[in-house]
Amino acid sequence: MEKVRAEIRVSGIVQGVGFRPFIYRIAVNMGLKGMVQNLKDATVRIVVEGPESSIKSFLDAMIKEKPPLARITKVDVSYSEPKNDFNDFKIMMSSEQGSVAGSVIPADVAICDDCIRELLDPNDRRFGYFFITCTNCGPRFTAILDTPYDRHNTSMRDFPMCKSCSSEYEDPLNRRFHAQTIACPECGPIVYLTTNDGELIECKDPIKEAARLIDEGYIVAVKGNGGFHVATATTISEPIIRLRKVKHRRQKPFAIMAKDLESIKTFAVVSDQEEELLKSPAHPIVLLRKSEDYYLSEEIAPGLHNIGVMLPYTGLHFLLLLNSKEPAYVMTSANPSGEPIVIQNQEAYIRIGKDVDYMLLHNREIVNRCDDSVVRIVDGSTSFIRRSRGYAPEPIVLPHEYGKNVFALGGELNVAACILMGDRAFLTQHIGDVECVETYEFLKSAIHHLARLIRAQPELIVHDLHPGFQTTRLAKELAEKIGVPTLAVQHHHAHVVSVMAEYGLEEAIGIACDGFGYGSDGLAWGGEILLCDGNGYHRLGHLENHPMPGGDLAAKYPARMAAGILFGSNICEEWLFSNTDKLPRGREEAEILLKQLKSGRNIKTSSAGRVLDSVATILGVCHERTYEGEPAMKLESKAIGGSDILGLKPEIKGRVLNTKHMVESIAEITMKGLDPKKVRDLAFSAQNYLALGLAEFASEIAISEGVRNVVFTGGVAYNEQITATIRRIVENNGLRFYTNTKVPPGDGGLSLGQAVIAAKLSG
Ligand code: ZN
Ligand code: ZN
Ligand code: FE
Repeated sequence: MEKVRAEIRVSGIVQGVGFRPFIYRIAVNMGLKGMVQNLKDATVRIVVEGPESSIKSFLDAMIKEKPPLARITKVDVSYSEPKNDFNDFKIMMSSEQGSVAGSVIPADVAICDDCIRELLDPNDRRFGYFFITCTNCGPRFTAILDTPYDRHNTSMRDFPMCKSCSSEYEDPLNRRFHAQTIACPECGPIVYLTTNDGELIECKDPIKEAARLIDEGYIVAVKGNGGFHVATATTISEPIIRLRKVKHRRQKPFAIMAKDLESIKTFAVVSDQEEELLKSPAHPIVLLRKSEDYYLSEEIAPGLHNIGVMLPYTGLHFLLLLNSKEPAYVMTSANPSGEPIVIQNQEAYIRIGKDVDYMLLHNREIVNRCDDSVVRIVDGSTSFIRRSRGYAPEPIVLPHEYGKNVFALGGELNVAACILMGDRAFLTQHIGDVECVETYEFLKSAIHHLARLIRAQPELIVHDLHPGFQTTRLAKELAEKIGVPTLAVQHHHAHVVSVMAEYGLEEAIGIACDGFGYGSDGLAWGGEILLCDGNGYHRLGHLENHPMPGGDLAAKYPARMAAGILFGSNICEEWLFSNTDKLPRGREEAEILLKQLKSGRNIKTSSAGRVLDSVATILGVCHERTYEGEPAMKLESKAIGGSDILGLKPEIKGRVLNTKHMVESIAEITMKGLDPKKVRDLAFSAQNYLALGLAEFASEIAISEGVRNVVFTGGVAYNEQITATIRRIVENNGLRFYTNTKVPPGDGGLSLGQAVIAAKLSG
């Protein structure tokens, strides 16, 4: 058999995922000699010598049996004469090199099946140990202080390895070979239980004791990998009601963590696609439809047809649920309202101590706070509501390469910043609503930390067109400090380009629908049809403008917005005065509101979100927005299973899709005495009207402009009925339809669009 030498270069996500020990194992198995090494450009270099057929099977095995977290995008092989310069197969260490720009920082990985098996095995030395991890699982990003990703650069530096752990760590054939978070009961972090003011509770098994307390109705803070959660039982309402009071969260749904998949199936409907997501390495929260015989407390996700569920993703969570009699626990981020998630033990007593009864803590530092990710399957594709733990800060690899390093800061709500380098977009973890000092500081430090980890130097800093956003202020501050220019990008333009960037589209007709984005004319946009290409955008269509009496108040109390839309029609006053109970100050407010409308001095909005909110209040579904998107989300839940009894044909005049007519028709029907059985169908009809109108309008524009691609984005794209309907019509018109699948269609994905627009315009 002829011997050859092969030089192999593997690209993709191949570092920090156990790729080298895997290569070592298959090479040794096949009797090959040579070496494997991580290169600074995030690729892996392999040199092997041996019979040609063995090298062929080696390459096959590399693709077929690769470690669960590895992703291979390219393999280059070149063959040559053997040099016989290897005696065996070697792993070269990454710590021998520094980091370079664009290195991949691995995201956290949920506990793997092998670790779960050991956790449950009484003969294993990690039996019942809460911080069990291996090369295939455990915290990564949340534990990294600096690169390269080695133990001394992680929060594990505080825990010197014991003899047994270090021999596993050194053994290339062991699953924990170079697992930086390796630990055991002898040398690793410890878990303990305290009261809410720090008094230690003596007990044999703090996790078991915590589970007992939660089952009994107590509220317990639980320190995880990326931050604290607050946990309660799910089959009783009392602790959840108490939690809502202390957190000032009247209606906002809480996520839950279920014991296992079987438990989930007792209260929710799980499709194959959703099951795959639940069990994927990120273990995100997945929005699932409540089942017919849903039996958990209605307090968890009031008024909604779905519920956010995740599986335990650390040993600690797994043991906690294992010891519980409950099918699931409420597991909501522990943070004072509007502030970032709590990560430090002392901080926890101060910031959330009074909100909880007990605390289940450990003594390992959380380096980077990282909230749970939230995903929903919308019309068959993955839609991120929040892209954070398990995904951030791994880069999104784009089909195009961009010439400039750009930092983009997003908008104001659900912010995640983006660093664009070449064909890689690095998005930060979820930062939240940048309205208070705490989130502002969090955003600042998250960008600094990410930029340092990936050695990024900005050449341009991008922000939203809104002059008043905190992120606009921060962009200017950063740009001045480093001496680089800034660029302002229109909100919906950025939304549309976030989709185009994912697919590498050069031009598209974009439908961007959300609550609010600052328009180039100073008005509040939110139902836009834009033609986007390399040069910018043209606003070719939008929803009808309506007065928004009281500005933000009209978003908080949708009845104000409904009056704004109805204003000018002959039922406006009658509707308003027979619905004064929907205004906090009743009749008096209605009178002032009417004067306000008559004055004509109101900001105008083309927002799709506000139209949906108005229908929600008119149909009696929701009268106050206590969290972002609430009225529209409840309207969607209400519409499930409905049909279009209104049957209105969309009215498009010039560049405007009429919405008044639809809202008016629904208001008229309700004023004649609303049959509660019709609420569902009317909710469905309203959504159908918007979807039909937008899809037909956009298709018409696409065809007349000669553009083949139509994209749909913005927060309204989470609405399954609207998205599915738009897709159907667009595709029936012979056009291609796209939505976001890698970044959120909501404002969490805005920074990707901003960055790509800036790189294109300035490159
Ligand atoms: Zn593992
Ligand atoms: Zn140990
Ligand atoms: Fe938006």
